[in-house]
Amino acid sequence: MRAELPVPVEEFVGHFAAAGGKHLQSTLVRSRNQQIAKSVLESAPSLREKARIHAIRAPKASLWLSSLRSRREHLLTDDDFRIGLRLRFGLPPVDHMPDACGQCHADLQSDPWHYLCCPGRLITARHNSCTCAICAWVTRLGGYAKYEPKGLGHDEEKKALRPDGRWEFGASCILGDITIHHALAQSHIAKSSKGPLLSIQDVISEKKKKYADIARDEKAKFHVFALETTGGFSTQANAAVDALVEASKAVHYVWAPKEVTFGLKRVLAVAVQRGNAEIVLAGLRRDSR
Ligand SMILES: [Zn+2]
Repeated sequence: MRAELPVPVEEFVGHFAAAGGKHLQSTLVRSRNQQIAKSVLESAPSLREKARIHAIRAPKASLWLSSLRSRREHLLTDDDFRIGLRLRFGLPPVDHMPDACGQCHADLQSDPWHYLCCPGRLITARHNSCTCAICAWVTRLGGYAKYEPKGLGHDEEKKALRPDGRWEFGASCILGDITIHHALAQSHIAKSSKGPLLSIQDVISEKKKKYADIARDEKAKFHVFALETTGGFSTQANAAVDALVEASKAVHYVWAPKEVTFGLKRVLAVAVQRGNAEIVLAGLRRDSR
Protein backbone atom coordinates (compact mmCIF):
# COMPACT_ATOMS: atom_id res chain seq x y z
CA MET A 1 0.00 0.00 0.00
CA ARG A 2 2.83 2.38 0.89
CA ALA A 3 4.18 2.24 -2.68
CA GLU A 4 0.88 3.57 -4.01
CA LEU A 5 0.84 6.60 -1.73
CA PRO A 6 2.39 9.96 -2.62
CA VAL A 7 5.43 10.73 -0.47
CA PRO A 8 4.78 14.40 0.48
CA VAL A 9 1.81 14.65 2.82
CA GLU A 10 0.49 17.84 1.15
CA GLU A 11 0.06 15.92 -2.14
CA PHE A 12 -2.03 13.19 -0.53
CA VAL A 13 -5.52 14.64 -1.13
CA GLY A 14 -4.69 15.85 -4.64
CA HIS A 15 -3.22 12.48 -5.58
CA PHE A 16 -6.40 10.57 -4.72
CA ALA A 17 -8.75 13.30 -5.96
CA ALA A 18 -7.05 13.03 -9.38
CA ALA A 19 -7.59 9.27 -9.35
CA GLY A 20 -11.31 9.70 -8.78
CA GLY A 21 -11.08 9.62 -4.99
CA LYS A 22 -14.16 7.41 -4.75
CA HIS A 23 -14.38 5.12 -1.71
CA LEU A 24 -10.96 6.33 -0.62
CA GLN A 25 -11.50 5.67 3.07
CA SER A 26 -12.78 2.13 2.61
CA THR A 27 -9.94 1.37 0.16
CA LEU A 28 -7.33 2.55 2.66
CA VAL A 29 -8.95 0.77 5.61
CA ARG A 30 -9.24 -2.47 3.61
CA SER A 31 -5.60 -2.31 2.53
CA ARG A 32 -4.52 -1.62 6.09
CA ASN A 33 -6.62 -4.50 7.44
CA GLN A 34 -5.24 -6.88 4.82
CA GLN A 35 -1.73 -5.88 5.84
CA ILE A 36 -2.47 -6.47 9.51
CA ALA A 37 -4.05 -9.86 8.72
CA LYS A 38 -0.99 -10.83 6.64
CA SER A 39 1.45 -9.96 9.40
CA VAL A 40 -0.66 -11.76 12.03
CA LEU A 41 -0.69 -14.87 9.84
CA GLU A 42 3.05 -14.69 9.17
CA SER A 43 3.82 -14.40 12.85
CA ALA A 44 1.48 -17.26 13.85
CA PRO A 45 3.59 -19.65 15.94
CA SER A 46 2.05 -22.92 14.71
CA LEU A 47 0.04 -24.49 11.90
CA ARG A 48 -2.90 -24.80 14.31
CA GLU A 49 -2.79 -21.07 14.98
CA LYS A 50 -2.62 -20.32 11.24
CA ALA A 51 -5.62 -22.59 10.69
CA ARG A 52 -7.56 -20.79 13.43
CA ILE A 53 -6.85 -17.37 11.92
CA HIS A 54 -8.00 -18.57 8.49
CA ALA A 55 -11.10 -20.16 10.04
CA ILE A 56 -12.25 -17.05 11.87
CA ARG A 57 -11.76 -14.95 8.73
CA ALA A 58 -14.04 -17.21 6.66
CA PRO A 59 -17.28 -15.64 5.38
CA LYS A 60 -19.96 -15.26 8.08
CA ALA A 61 -17.62 -16.58 10.81
CA SER A 62 -18.57 -13.64 13.01
CA LEU A 63 -22.30 -13.67 12.23
CA TRP A 64 -23.24 -15.33 15.54
CA LEU A 65 -21.60 -12.45 17.42
CA SER A 66 -24.21 -10.00 16.19
CA SER A 67 -27.30 -12.15 16.79
CA LEU A 68 -30.37 -10.33 18.09
CA ARG A 69 -31.10 -11.22 21.70
CA SER A 70 -34.76 -10.37 21.14
CA ARG A 71 -35.39 -13.52 19.07
CA ARG A 72 -35.49 -16.90 20.77
CA GLU A 73 -33.78 -18.69 17.89
CA HIS A 74 -30.92 -16.18 18.04
CA LEU A 75 -30.38 -16.43 21.76
CA LEU A 76 -27.06 -17.64 23.16
CA THR A 77 -26.57 -18.28 26.86
CA ASP A 78 -23.55 -16.85 28.66
CA ASP A 79 -21.90 -20.30 28.45
CA ASP A 80 -22.58 -20.57 24.70
CA PHE A 81 -21.09 -17.14 24.16
CA ARG A 82 -18.06 -17.80 26.35
CA ILE A 83 -17.24 -21.09 24.61
CA GLY A 84 -17.69 -19.47 21.18
CA LEU A 85 -15.38 -16.59 22.06
CA ARG A 86 -12.69 -18.84 23.54
CA LEU A 87 -12.66 -20.93 20.34
CA ARG A 88 -12.46 -17.77 18.26
CA PHE A 89 -9.60 -16.34 20.34
CA GLY A 90 -7.57 -19.56 20.31
CA LEU A 91 -8.00 -20.22 24.04
CA PRO A 92 -8.83 -23.68 25.41
CA PRO A 93 -12.48 -24.16 26.53
CA VAL A 94 -11.33 -23.79 30.16
CA ASP A 95 -7.96 -22.81 31.59
CA HIS A 96 -7.30 -26.25 33.06
CA MET A 97 -8.26 -28.91 30.56
CA PRO A 98 -8.51 -32.62 31.48
CA ASP A 99 -5.60 -34.68 30.12
CA ALA A 100 -7.54 -36.95 27.78
CA CYS A 101 -10.92 -37.45 26.14
CA GLY A 102 -12.89 -39.97 28.20
CA GLN A 103 -14.34 -41.52 25.05
CA CYS A 104 -11.40 -41.99 22.66
CA HIS A 105 -8.41 -41.05 24.87
CA ALA A 106 -7.30 -38.23 22.54
CA ASP A 107 -4.81 -35.83 24.11
CA LEU A 108 -6.76 -32.73 25.19
CA GLN A 109 -3.62 -30.88 26.21
CA SER A 110 -2.39 -30.73 22.61
CA ASP A 111 -5.86 -30.44 21.05
CA PRO A 112 -8.17 -28.75 23.59
CA TRP A 113 -11.06 -28.48 21.09
CA HIS A 114 -11.03 -32.19 20.26
CA TYR A 115 -14.58 -32.57 21.70
CA LEU A 116 -15.97 -30.68 18.67
CA CYS A 117 -15.13 -33.59 16.38
CA CYS A 118 -15.22 -36.60 18.71
CA PRO A 119 -18.16 -38.68 17.43
CA GLY A 120 -21.04 -38.89 19.88
CA ARG A 121 -24.68 -38.22 20.59
CA LEU A 122 -24.23 -34.46 20.95
CA ILE A 123 -22.38 -34.10 17.64
CA THR A 124 -25.47 -35.66 16.03
CA ALA A 125 -27.72 -33.37 18.09
CA ARG A 126 -25.84 -30.28 16.81
CA HIS A 127 -26.26 -31.50 13.24
CA ASN A 128 -29.96 -32.27 13.78
CA SER A 129 -30.64 -28.89 15.35
CA CYS A 130 -29.44 -27.24 12.13
CA THR A 131 -31.69 -29.50 10.04
CA CYS A 132 -34.64 -28.71 12.34
CA ALA A 133 -33.88 -24.98 12.11
CA ILE A 134 -34.13 -25.13 8.31
CA CYS A 135 -37.34 -27.22 8.45
CA ALA A 136 -38.92 -24.77 10.93
CA TRP A 137 -37.91 -21.82 8.78
CA VAL A 138 -39.39 -23.38 5.63
CA THR A 139 -42.65 -24.26 7.42
CA ARG A 140 -42.91 -20.77 8.88
CA LEU A 141 -42.69 -19.26 5.43
CA GLY A 142 -45.44 -21.50 4.06
CA GLY A 143 -43.27 -24.18 2.45
CA TYR A 144 -43.35 -27.95 2.94
CA ALA A 145 -40.49 -29.52 4.91
CA LYS A 146 -39.69 -33.20 5.22
CA TYR A 147 -37.02 -34.26 7.71
CA GLU A 148 -34.75 -37.07 6.44
CA PRO A 149 -37.05 -38.16 3.58
CA LYS A 150 -37.04 -41.89 2.76
CA GLY A 151 -37.27 -43.85 -0.48
CA LEU A 152 -36.12 -41.15 -2.86
CA GLY A 153 -34.92 -41.77 -6.42
CA HIS A 154 -35.51 -44.57 -8.91
CA ASP A 155 -32.46 -46.65 -8.11
CA GLU A 156 -33.33 -49.50 -5.70
CA GLU A 157 -29.79 -49.55 -4.28
CA LYS A 158 -29.86 -45.85 -3.53
CA LYS A 159 -33.30 -45.83 -1.91
CA ALA A 160 -31.64 -46.36 1.46
CA LEU A 161 -29.88 -42.99 1.14
CA ARG A 162 -31.57 -40.22 3.06
CA PRO A 163 -30.54 -36.61 2.67
CA ASP A 164 -31.16 -34.46 5.76
CA GLY A 165 -34.14 -32.63 4.31
CA ARG A 166 -36.51 -32.08 1.45
CA TRP A 167 -37.95 -28.58 1.19
CA GLU A 168 -40.62 -27.45 -1.23
CA PHE A 169 -42.01 -24.05 -2.12
CA GLY A 170 -44.56 -24.32 -4.91
CA ALA A 171 -42.84 -26.00 -7.85
CA SER A 172 -39.34 -25.65 -6.38
CA CYS A 173 -37.92 -28.67 -4.63
CA ILE A 174 -34.63 -28.60 -2.78
CA LEU A 175 -32.87 -31.59 -1.26
CA GLY A 176 -30.16 -30.77 1.21
CA ASP A 177 -27.57 -32.28 3.47
CA ILE A 178 -25.92 -30.56 6.39
CA THR A 179 -22.36 -30.91 7.54
CA ILE A 180 -20.63 -29.13 10.41
CA HIS A 181 -16.94 -29.42 9.86
CA HIS A 182 -14.21 -28.87 12.46
CA ALA A 183 -11.38 -27.41 10.40
CA LEU A 184 -9.15 -27.33 13.50
CA ALA A 185 -9.28 -31.11 13.98
CA GLN A 186 -5.82 -32.67 14.09
CA SER A 187 -6.41 -34.44 10.77
CA HIS A 188 -7.35 -31.21 8.94
CA ILE A 189 -4.75 -28.82 10.36
CA ALA A 190 -2.25 -29.16 7.48
CA LYS A 191 -4.87 -28.21 4.89
CA SER A 192 -6.71 -25.65 7.03
CA SER A 193 -3.48 -23.78 7.75
CA LYS A 194 -3.15 -22.93 4.04
CA GLY A 195 -6.37 -20.94 3.74
CA PRO A 196 -10.00 -20.56 4.78
CA LEU A 197 -12.55 -23.29 3.98
CA LEU A 198 -10.03 -25.62 2.33
CA SER A 199 -10.50 -28.79 4.34
CA ILE A 200 -14.30 -28.66 4.05
CA GLN A 201 -14.20 -29.02 0.26
CA ASP A 202 -13.65 -32.79 0.27
CA VAL A 203 -16.78 -33.32 2.39
CA ILE A 204 -18.83 -31.17 0.01
CA SER A 205 -17.64 -33.04 -3.09
CA GLU A 206 -18.39 -36.37 -1.44
CA LYS A 207 -21.96 -35.35 -0.54
CA LYS A 208 -22.66 -33.91 -3.99
CA LYS A 209 -21.53 -37.16 -5.57
CA LYS A 210 -23.55 -39.26 -3.12
CA TYR A 211 -26.88 -37.50 -3.80
CA ALA A 212 -26.51 -36.47 -7.48
CA ASP A 213 -28.61 -39.35 -8.89
CA ILE A 214 -31.38 -38.97 -6.31
CA ALA A 215 -31.64 -35.22 -6.96
CA ARG A 216 -31.85 -35.89 -10.71
CA ASP A 217 -34.56 -38.54 -10.27
CA GLU A 218 -36.57 -36.26 -7.96
CA LYS A 219 -36.13 -33.25 -10.28
CA ALA A 220 -34.78 -31.39 -7.28
CA LYS A 221 -31.80 -29.16 -6.72
CA PHE A 222 -29.30 -30.62 -4.26
CA HIS A 223 -27.45 -28.32 -1.87
CA VAL A 224 -24.87 -28.90 0.84
CA PHE A 225 -25.17 -26.72 3.92
CA ALA A 226 -21.49 -26.98 4.79
CA LEU A 227 -20.62 -24.94 7.86
CA GLU A 228 -17.60 -24.81 10.12
CA THR A 229 -17.57 -25.08 13.92
CA THR A 230 -15.79 -21.72 14.00
CA GLY A 231 -18.81 -20.14 12.29
CA GLY A 232 -17.63 -19.98 8.68
CA PHE A 233 -20.09 -20.58 5.84
CA SER A 234 -18.77 -22.30 2.74
CA THR A 235 -19.74 -20.87 -0.66
CA GLN A 236 -22.06 -23.87 -1.00
CA ALA A 237 -23.79 -23.11 2.32
CA ASN A 238 -24.38 -19.52 1.26
CA ALA A 239 -25.72 -20.71 -2.10
CA ALA A 240 -27.99 -23.24 -0.34
CA VAL A 241 -29.57 -20.63 1.93
CA ASP A 242 -29.89 -18.17 -0.96
CA ALA A 243 -31.63 -20.88 -3.01
CA LEU A 244 -34.16 -21.46 -0.19
CA VAL A 245 -34.78 -17.72 0.21
CA GLU A 246 -35.28 -17.40 -3.54
CA ALA A 247 -37.65 -20.40 -3.63
CA SER A 248 -39.64 -19.00 -0.69
CA LYS A 249 -40.53 -15.94 -2.75
CA ALA A 250 -42.88 -18.16 -4.77
CA VAL A 251 -45.17 -18.41 -1.74
CA HIS A 252 -46.86 -15.05 -1.51
CA TYR A 253 -49.67 -15.88 0.86
CA VAL A 254 -47.59 -15.94 4.02
CA TRP A 255 -46.57 -12.69 5.61
CA ALA A 256 -43.08 -12.76 7.07
CA PRO A 257 -40.86 -9.98 8.27
CA LYS A 258 -37.72 -9.37 6.28
CA GLU A 259 -35.46 -10.51 9.13
CA VAL A 260 -37.18 -13.91 9.12
CA THR A 261 -36.89 -14.34 5.36
CA PHE A 262 -33.25 -13.33 5.31
CA GLY A 263 -32.39 -14.53 8.83
CA LEU A 264 -31.79 -18.22 8.14
CA LYS A 265 -28.00 -17.80 8.00
CA ARG A 266 -28.06 -16.19 11.43
CA VAL A 267 -30.28 -18.95 12.86
CA LEU A 268 -27.83 -21.59 11.56
CA ALA A 269 -24.80 -19.66 12.82
CA VAL A 270 -26.34 -19.54 16.31
CA ALA A 271 -27.39 -23.22 16.21
CA VAL A 272 -23.78 -24.25 15.51
CA GLN A 273 -22.43 -22.22 18.45
CA ARG A 274 -25.14 -23.55 20.79
CA GLY A 275 -24.29 -27.09 19.70
CA ASN A 276 -20.55 -26.49 20.18
CA ALA A 277 -21.07 -25.28 23.73
CA GLU A 278 -23.29 -28.23 24.59
CA ILE A 279 -20.70 -30.72 23.24
CA VAL A 280 -17.75 -29.09 25.00
CA LEU A 281 -19.48 -28.62 28.35
CA ALA A 282 -20.72 -32.23 28.36
CA GLY A 283 -17.17 -33.46 27.60
CA LEU A 284 -15.73 -31.33 30.41
CA ARG A 285 -18.36 -32.57 32.89
CA ARG A 286 -17.47 -36.17 32.02
CA ASP A 287 -13.68 -35.83 32.00
CA SER A 288 -12.87 -33.23 34.66
CA ARG A 289 -11.98 -34.54 38.08
ZN1 LIG B 1 -12.63 -38.09 21.89
